[in-house]
Amino acid sequence: MHSLDQFAQEKLDDLQRRHLRRVLAETVREDGIWVERDGKRLLSFSCNDYLNLTQHPAIKQAAIAAIEKYGAGSGASRLVTGNHPLYAQLEARLARIKKTEAAVVFGSGYLANAGIIPVLIGRDGLVLADELSHACLLAGAQLSSGKVMTFRHNDVAHARELLEAHRAEHDHALIVTDGVFSMDGDLAPLAELLALANEHDTWLMSDDAHGLGVVGGGRGSSFVGNTHIPIPLQMGTLSKAVGAYGGYLCASEAVIDLIRNRARTLIYSTGLPPACVAAAIAALDLIEREPGYAALPVQKAKAFTKAASLPDAQSPIVPVIIGDEEKTLAASRLLAEEGYLAAAIRPPSVPPGTARLRLTFTAQHPDDAIARLAELVRNKIMAH
Ligand SMILES: *Cc1c(COP(=O)(O)O)cnc(C)c1O
Repeated sequence: MHSLDQFAQEKLDDLQRRHLRRVLAETVREDGIWVERDGKRLLSFSCNDYLNLTQHPAIKQAAIAAIEKYGAGSGASRLVTGNHPLYAQLEARLARIKKTEAAVVFGSGYLANAGIIPVLIGRDGLVLADELSHACLLAGAQLSSGKVMTFRHNDVAHARELLEAHRAEHDHALIVTDGVFSMDGDLAPLAELLALANEHDTWLMSDDAHGLGVVGGGRGSSFVGNTHIPIPLQMGTLSKAVGAYGGYLCASEAVIDLIRNRARTLIYSTGLPPACVAAAIAALDLIEREPGYAALPVQKAKAFTKAASLPDAQSPIVPVIIGDEEKTLAASRLLAEEGYLAAAIRPPSVPPGTARLRLTFTAQHPDDAIARLAELVRNKIMAH
């Protein structure tokens, strides 16, 4: 065998032995909540389409109209000729929602984090990340070539210790954290982190991929509980509750202008297709107009955790932690037999020993289906 294929096969065999091999399952999403896999219809509790906007008629129509007017693709990087007129509208809308001076849109959330952090932090800088931060925050931190340290999950005292010990050794420092944690669904202590950052002349960036559209009246995790925590760097994605695709950063005029000039993932990557940008604008319109609808996913998640006797949900994401990879796969199969899609999440997406079902609740999940799922989880999964 060619050494390259042999290399790949050995890696795959090892993953297989550890129940960590993954496959891409072809999935047809029929509407906001039902999917078809292997000829079987399943009610999905594994999409990040929290408001079911990927299938919303008015939003699809906005995307189609943008294709008709501006074309299927954008044709170049935004800095060359790919900056079609819809971008300015979307960026103004994002800045308004997040109450910042300005915003910039990237190709995806991953590209945003990989681009932003290296602009702000160089070789002499420090990035402090919550240990459960999303993989792309850590990837952006690594790309910065600064020193990267992690603090224990949501442990502000630990972050403080690290800053007290190490801040002085670095020219600049940046704390990064998910606003809503992607695999656990809990919220970061953003007010405390901001106070800490300010005390130590350190910058704070929150990744609100799972906050925009669903918590804080739809504005996201820095607006939870009718407060406004003025986080200087608020990034997120347009691919989850917003139902389209793309990433963004909301910040001051000066920071956004610098990012436009320096972020390599913005400069050297093609602008988003007009349809994505148009869909995002239409979705944000709806989110701003209908805060009651935006509140539904968290309400549904809370109804589930109550019925399943799990800790109260803080977001639409509810982890059912099983621990063992094989048992987690078996639990996912059991739910599939009952008509539910609940994906098994295994390391390295989550820490070793914490394999889980990650359930996500959306605005249109029927209450009776949620009640039945809670019963299955309580009696057939948690009881074993
Ligand atoms: C999904 C996700 C991203 C990546 O966003 P994409 O637009 O899908 O690339 C970034 N951060 C967090 C916390 C996420 O969950």
